[in-house]
Amino acid sequence: MSEKETRVRRVLVANRGEIALRVIRALKELGLESVAVYSEADRDSLHVQLADYAICIGPPAVQKSYLNVPQLISAALVTGSQAIHPGYGFLAENADFARIARQHKLVFLGPSPESIELMGDKIRAKQIMRDAGVPVVPGSDGPVDSLGEVRVVAREIGYPLLLKAVAGGGGRGMRVVEAPEDLQRAYDMARSEAQAAFSDSRLYVERYIARPRHIEVQVMGDRHGNAVHFFERECSIQRRHQKLIEEAPSPVLTQEERAYLGEVSLRAVQSLGYETAGTLEFLFDERRRAFYFIEMNTRIQVEHPITEMITGVDLVKLQILTALGHPLPLRQEEVRIHGHAIELRINAEDPTQDFQPRPGRIEALHLPGGPGIRIDTHIFAGYTVPPYYDSLIAKLIAWGNTRQETLRRLARALDEWYLEGFPTTVPLHRKILEHPDFRAGRIHTHFLEQSGVLDALLD
Ligand code: ADP
Ligand code: ADP
Ligand code: MG
Repeated sequence: MSEKETRVRRVLVANRGEIALRVIRALKELGLESVAVYSEADRDSLHVQLADYAICIGPPAVQKSYLNVPQLISAALVTGSQAIHPGYGFLAENADFARIARQHKLVFLGPSPESIELMGDKIRAKQIMRDAGVPVVPGSDGPVDSLGEVRVVAREIGYPLLLKAVAGGGGRGMRVVEAPEDLQRAYDMARSEAQAAFSDSRLYVERYIARPRHIEVQVMGDRHGNAVHFFERECSIQRRHQKLIEEAPSPVLTQEERAYLGEVSLRAVQSLGYETAGTLEFLFDERRRAFYFIEMNTRIQVEHPITEMITGVDLVKLQILTALGHPLPLRQEEVRIHGHAIELRINAEDPTQDFQPRPGRIEALHLPGGPGIRIDTHIFAGYTVPPYYDSLIAKLIAWGNTRQETLRRLARALDEWYLEGFPTTVPLHRKILEHPDFRAGRIHTHFLEQSGVLDALLD
C-alpha cells in the first residue's frame, strides 16, 4: 500500500441512519465522492438521497444487508469505490471485514484488522493495557473455564462481581452476581447467553464497581507514529449499560486527573501502534478517585460530536485522512478545550414501557435550532422509522461557554422539539435536565434507576 492513498476518490459508506449522513458530509467536505448502501427498508432514507451514488444491498434483515460482507464488498467494487467507511455498529469492529476489504484493494477507513482483533477480545485488551501501565478493573487474568475458577477469583475480588462475555458489546453480555449462592445459576445463564448472542461462550470476571462514572478518552493515531488525545467524555447516564446522555468535559475531574487520563491513554495508543480514531473507556470510582480501563472501541463513536464541539476538530474528517495515510495535522499542545457540550440521544422508544422500541411514521416534525445547537439526524416529516434497526433517531447536541449555559440551551431546544407519530426519549430528557443531581453533575451509571426520574415520568 502506498504511503498516501491518493488514488482514493470514491468511498462506500457501509452504514445507515445518522452516522451514514455524518460520514457523507465529511466526504463532501474532503472532496471525495460517496456511495450509500441501503436495504429494501431504507430505500427512502436521507443518506440515500444525499450521497452521490446509492446501491441496494438486500432485504431489511441486517444479516442479509448491513452485515452481509460479500454483498458490501461487491457493492464497493461494482460502484468503483476505492475505500469503505464502516461507521459504528454493524461491521465497524469486525476484523474479518477489514481484512477482506484489504484483500480486495479497498482501503478500510479505520484501524488495522490486527488492532480491531486485539481490542475486540476484551481480555487481551485488558492484558495489553495493563502491560502498557494503564489501570484495569481487578478480575480474572483470562477467560474462566469453570465455576471453580470463578470462585477462586471471587475470593480475591469479593462480591458483587460481574460476569462478562469476552466477545460482548452494545451493553449486552454482562451479568451481576450479588452473592456466592447466586453464582452457579448466573454462570450457567451467562455462558448460554454469550453463546447465543456472540457465538462465543467464554466469560471473564470483574469486580463490580459500585456506582461508577463512565469516562472515556477520544484518541487518534496516524501511520507515522504520531498520536493525540482529545480529552474525555463522561457517559454516565445510561439505560441497560447503554449511553443516553454524554458530556464533555466531565464535570468531576480535576486538571491533574484529566492530564493523567490523557497521558495514560496516549501511552496505550502508542504501545499499540494504533491508527485512526478510537476510544478508551474507563470506569471512575469517585470515592477512591481511581480509573479502571474497561475496553477500547476501535471506531468512531455515537457521541463523537461533543468532543468536536469543545475542540473545534472534525473527528470524522481526521479519521478518514489518517486512514488514507496523512499525518495528523496537529500536536497535543494544540488540542484545547473550549466550553462545554452535552448530547442527548433521542430514540424511538417508550421510556415508560422499559424503553420498548416504538418505530413508526413521523406525521409532523420541527427540529430545534439557534445558537449552540447541533442536530445530527436522518429523520424528516413523512419518514417512517423501520422496525429492523437501532432506535436512535436523532442526536441533540448543545454547546455553551459553561455547563450552565449548555444546560439552558438544551432545555430551550427541547421546548422547540416537536415530533408527532410515536413516543421518544424526549420527555425523559426533560426530567433528567430538571433533576438537581444532574444539574450539579452528581451522576453515576445507575442514575436513571436510582434518581426517580423514570417514576416522575409515569406520574
Ligand atoms: P458508543 O460507545 O459509540 O455509544 P454503543 O455501545 O452505543 O457505542 O454502540 C454503538 C452502536 O453499535 C449501537 O447501535 C449499538 O447497538 C451497536 N453495537 C455495538 N456493539 C454491538 C454488538 N456487539 N452487537 C450488536 N450491536 C452492537
Ligand atoms: P460494552 O462493550 O457493552 O460497551 P463495557 O465493558 O464498555 O461494555 O461496559 C458498558 C457499561 O457497563 C459501562 O459503561 C458500565 O456502566 C457497565 N460496566 C462494565 N463493567 C463494569 C464493572 N466492572 N463494574 C461496574 N459497571 C460496569
Ligand atoms: Mg463500552
